[in-house]
Amino acid sequence: MKNFGLSIWGDDNFVIDGETININYASKPSLLQITQDIREKGYKGPLLLRFPHLIQKQISTLFKTFEKAKKEFDYQGSFHAVFPLKVNQFPNFVHSLMEVSDGYNYGLEAGSKAELIIAMAKTPIGAPITVNGFKDKEMISLCFIAAKMGHNITVTIEGLGELETIIQVNKEFNDKAENPISPKIGVRIRLHSSGIGIWAKSGGYSSKFGLTSTELLEAYEMLKANTLLHKLWMIHFHIGSQMGDIAPLKKALREAGNIYTDLKKRGANALGAINIGGGLAVEYSQHTHSQERNYSLLEFANDVVYLMQEISKRKGVDEPDIFTESGRYIAASHSVLVAPVLELFSQEYTEKGLRLKKKNPPLIEELYDLYNNIKRKNAREYLHDALDHMESLLTLFDLGYIDLEDRSNTEILVNLIIKRSIALLKNEGTDELKKLQDRIQEKYLVNFSAFQSLPDFWGLAQHFPIVPLDKLDEKPSNPASIWDITCDSDGEIGFNRELPLYLHDIDISTEEYFIGFFLTGAYQEVLGMKHNLFTHPTEAVISFDEDGNYVIDKLIEAQNLMDVLEDLEYDTNIIDKALKYRIEESEKISLEEKRELLGKLYLYLSENSYLKTIQAISESNQGV
Ligand code: PLP
Repeated sequence: MKNFGLSIWGDDNFVIDGETININYASKPSLLQITQDIREKGYKGPLLLRFPHLIQKQISTLFKTFEKAKKEFDYQGSFHAVFPLKVNQFPNFVHSLMEVSDGYNYGLEAGSKAELIIAMAKTPIGAPITVNGFKDKEMISLCFIAAKMGHNITVTIEGLGELETIIQVNKEFNDKAENPISPKIGVRIRLHSSGIGIWAKSGGYSSKFGLTSTELLEAYEMLKANTLLHKLWMIHFHIGSQMGDIAPLKKALREAGNIYTDLKKRGANALGAINIGGGLAVEYSQHTHSQERNYSLLEFANDVVYLMQEISKRKGVDEPDIFTESGRYIAASHSVLVAPVLELFSQEYTEKGLRLKKKNPPLIEELYDLYNNIKRKNAREYLHDALDHMESLLTLFDLGYIDLEDRSNTEILVNLIIKRSIALLKNEGTDELKKLQDRIQEKYLVNFSAFQSLPDFWGLAQHFPIVPLDKLDEKPSNPASIWDITCDSDGEIGFNRELPLYLHDIDISTEEYFIGFFLTGAYQEVLGMKHNLFTHPTEAVISFDEDGNYVIDKLIEAQNLMDVLEDLEYDTNIIDKALKYRIEESEKISLEEKRELLGKLYLYLSENSYLKTIQAISESNQGV
């Protein structure tokens, strides 16, 4: 993996330029330079960098591609898109999204009352808002308030109970109104087609959402009976996120298209739009053999447009407007999590670490000879000898014949021999060698929390591209596992022989090494957990000025320790007093020491939970 699979997942957003990975935009700064700039301002620990130009790129590509498909088929309906807020509600993201989407009549989708409030405040009047998910009377009332503000809002019925509430709220809001105004109505349909993959549960007959055909007919009658049929204008479906395969989408489109045309012919004259939900997949893979998506955006758009046209023509109805709620596709690429490596765990396995004695046990002498004389032609044989000697030496230790130093020398020599033989035999790639790679893998302790920043890795084993920010002109040699700093063994991205990650062999006591986790912009932030009380990392928005130079803006530091506790409803005044009291009342320390301790304590309380200093780097006063 020479370029860390950049050509597979990178979408030309980044380039490797000599040693570093750079933004492929404007002055093409390196991620390393941006990271160092922010760290010089005093922000240490993991950093989440947001790039609004990448949000803009996704939005304009989505619109351009659908316009292209429409042109190709001479499609008469229009194309619209909304961003589903559940994918990323963070203000620095949403502000950027609204800024860069100006001119596209781009709207927001809300799935809860809090999201609806964001949508009502942020969507430009006239741009679409769609409201999905389970709703109570208050949420439906908010939709009516939004409509009365002038918003172009569609409330999607997810069940018949909800429709009853809409009818009731409509009466309350409009019966006495001079100018009755209500939201447009959509219905989510329960398709028998479902998506595939880990997020496929949103579609199919057993899905949580949507109306069956029987319920749909009932809803139609209820709308008609309550003179609301003129408000029914959208058919909605969503078959699951990260649809890697295009085939289920085509099936769903045929099914939804036929439902749309049937309802229209039945008398739902206001019906004019089909909302295909989200699901457009992102390529997260770093390896050609494990790619996650089997289609391009153009194929996706062509299929949607062509199938809707074909069904409409066949049934003799006008072609509907097309809405998408793609979220992952819009947001994933916009952010990169950068985290410093704190330690390499088998760094002690070097020749320097050997504690050879004047007289060593014969098997250790032999291991040392094997290590010094290993060559390509004898590598396999010497490797087998070394593994055999190791077994014998460990037995000798268990029986008390050799000591801890001998055992340590055994570990180091065998590790060095394995490393050297893998390097010498690298073209052979046998199973035995692959297994041995697991044994010598290097564990990189990285200053981040997988639970907080990559929850889909923790919960669903979703892969995210990993690239070091530096040394990219050197071939990485260490099969690598990544450990986060939580006290939980699930916080590990283990070395996977099928999808191997190699990182550089570095001496962290003398140099810095940063790992970039890419495509983290969708879902990860709000799903992130505060396991061990590691919170959302420090974030910054990186934009570019007229000269193409980057500007670091809207820096928000990770919460400090007291704020984290306050979020958990601790009374921080009481905690503050308790800590102070315990220092002041301690009988074991002098007055001067107490003053010093209090000073230090208040400094630490003002910082965040991520690690700051470690090992030798701390000596040269560098934070991590
Ligand atoms: N619309 C609905 C109704 C959803 O439930 C979801 C997510 O599951 C989306 C849109 C966004 O999907 P994606 O992020 O895959 O585009």
